[in-house]
Amino acid sequence: MATIRFKALEALMTRQAQPVEQPLKKTSEYFAENVFDQRKMKEFLSKEAYDTVKDAIENGTRIPRRIADQVSSGMKAWAVSKGVTHYTHWFHPLTGATAEKHDAFFEPSLTDGVIESFDGAKLVQQEPDASSFPSGGLRNTFEARGYTAWDPSSPAFIFDRTLCIPTIFVSYTGEALDYKTPLLKSLSLLNDAAVEVCQYFDKDVTKVFATLGWEQEYFLVDSALYMARPDLMLTGRTLMGHPSAKDQQLEDHYFGTIPTRVTAFMREFEIEAYKLGIPIKTRHNEVAPNQFECAPVYEEANLAVDHNMLMMDLMKKISRRHNFKVLLHEKPFKGINGSGKHNNWSMATNTGVNLLSPGKNPKSNLQFLTFIVNTIKAVHEHADLLRASIVSAGNEHRLGASEAPPSIISVFLGSYLTKVLDELEERVTDKKMSPDEKTELKLDIGRIPELLLDNTDRNRTSPFAFTGNRFEFRAVGSNANCAAPMTFLSLAVADQLKKFKVEVDAKIDAGVKKDEAILQVLKDYIISSKVIRFDGNGYSQEWVEEAERRGLSNIKEVVKALEAFESEKTLNLCTGHNIFTKRELEARHEIKVENYTKILQIESRVLGDLATNHIIPTVYKYQNQLIENVRGLKQVLDAKDFDQIAGIQLQTIKEISGRIALIKIKVKNMIEARKKANAVEDLYEKARLYSEEVKPYLSEIRYHIDHLEMIVDNEIWPLPKYRELLFAR
Ligand code: ADP
Ligand code: MG
Repeated sequence: MATIRFKALEALMTRQAQPVEQPLKKTSEYFAENVFDQRKMKEFLSKEAYDTVKDAIENGTRIPRRIADQVSSGMKAWAVSKGVTHYTHWFHPLTGATAEKHDAFFEPSLTDGVIESFDGAKLVQQEPDASSFPSGGLRNTFEARGYTAWDPSSPAFIFDRTLCIPTIFVSYTGEALDYKTPLLKSLSLLNDAAVEVCQYFDKDVTKVFATLGWEQEYFLVDSALYMARPDLMLTGRTLMGHPSAKDQQLEDHYFGTIPTRVTAFMREFEIEAYKLGIPIKTRHNEVAPNQFECAPVYEEANLAVDHNMLMMDLMKKISRRHNFKVLLHEKPFKGINGSGKHNNWSMATNTGVNLLSPGKNPKSNLQFLTFIVNTIKAVHEHADLLRASIVSAGNEHRLGASEAPPSIISVFLGSYLTKVLDELEERVTDKKMSPDEKTELKLDIGRIPELLLDNTDRNRTSPFAFTGNRFEFRAVGSNANCAAPMTFLSLAVADQLKKFKVEVDAKIDAGVKKDEAILQVLKDYIISSKVIRFDGNGYSQEWVEEAERRGLSNIKEVVKALEAFESEKTLNLCTGHNIFTKRELEARHEIKVENYTKILQIESRVLGDLATNHIIPTVYKYQNQLIENVRGLKQVLDAKDFDQIAGIQLQTIKEISGRIALIKIKVKNMIEARKKANAVEDLYEKARLYSEEVKPYLSEIRYHIDHLEMIVDNEIWPLPKYRELLFAR
């Protein structure tokens, strides 16, 4: 009887690339056709409603109920004209996925038969019975109500014949239960803070918005092979598997020709993405075999976050038609690269200026330096919080594993900017500069080239790199919701800009000229945040040692890194600007820690089951074959030959027994360790026990299984091997 592994391989051999119904239209003709964007609003709304919504999007003003009624009826008319039957509020609960609860438009009416109904109240607010979402104790079950509220800044869209309305999700008592609420608050704070600082340079700036361009990495695995790997199905990663003889060492996959089956899949999800207004721009192979990346053109951060979540859903959905499974886990395979999601972040003004891009003259370059230096200072100040915003059970395998930035947060600037900052540090003084000194400094600042792109970080080992016109936060995991890192980064920078403004104003009030005041404060910041700057090889041991000398934190354990959510510094930052209350932070901390524990618990259970039910029985079968073989040898050989020839077989039989015994003991001990941890009430202590006492068994048990994989007859090995998962398609 063929094992499920061979059946899967057989299924795979007959796979054909799925034809994609390519619209013959140009992308621009159907781009955003499933989005209720400004164009559709103009068509389906009255001028009054259109103007009100536009104002709400641009300035965050409230939409009165009367107008909401108009908007809902316009939205409904548009959606129904496109064959839509249901609507849902679409939100980002703290599970990490998106959530929706569909309701049909139709409503039986006593007088009119069945009608399509959707009014302003339903658009603006819903009360999903969402008591099962994690709330970190913010809701007791007896007041489990949470409600979703319309976020007009992200347009409604049609997905799967359902009208989806982006919303925030808050508890009945007003506490945030999602990722979006704090993101919107911190983006708005950043707007306030940055506009004020921009006023030093350009009075026309009235709005600043954060921009985000994410780069999504992922693996594809054939769905038949995936089904034959319970570990992939239940945990998203392989818990065992001997390395393939060939993997990424030849570097022949990176940017190589994309396989036809994969291109068909990409093409289809891109078409669907375009219809949803997601501006996907690039696609290519990544470093590891069967690893790929896609990236859009950057957008306003809130919208980009929604689009990334939507994109991940879309990829999963479309992959089914192509008999692929998308793996978004940060580390699906041991020994080869995992997946990240670089968050390219910058700030842009209503006047069309990218604040992290050098300009054309000394004034705009001083503005550029102001935003660069304040960002560096913010990252230095809140490095621990930024780390806490991106750690997870999955990302733990990747960070610091010589394929992704280490757990030390540092900033890459490149040699050119480093020189500029060094010069400012040297030349700016607190005493009044002479006119000559001033002119010279101005000239130098004016000389910063408009394009710094050739200066970007090619070694890619920095977690937070300046890449010419933006910062690239590279430590974010592939599976993460970008909202968390975007929230804390924007918040930290906003806080910093506000402090900057106060300090500069104080100097101006004391009679210092504006430009000089700005330069003096920047100089202080350059000095006080200098230790966070590092352009060398972030993967090296020397950096670990150097960072320690500099006093930078290097926290590898998730549970420990998450403590930053409740540090004094974080508390002051978050409550001081009303982005989070203390309780909300505690809740978030708690949810993250619990999630970490649960993931380890599931992985440990799955590994225990697989070892006991899949691996050991298979290994016994093979061992019996060997024993049978030895028996046969005994019959045909004389004693002297037998000792010599059967000796090797006996060694293998013994090795197998030894490894089986170790696996069994370790599985038993792992279960004991779990029991001990499960009995602990305190969430944080439980997580620590899981991390320190359960987690090590995952690799210890795997070690022996992977060795057995090399010994046992290939014909009976039950799980698809790495070479198949990575190369068969
Ligand atoms: P690389 O792999 O070299 O980093 P990619 O083209 O894969 O380059 O991705 C770069 C990402 O950075 C894209 O999503 C791009 O839109 C984004 N980006 C460029 N400029 C900005 C900006 N000012 N703000 C935010 N993101 C930006
Ligand atoms: Mg990049």
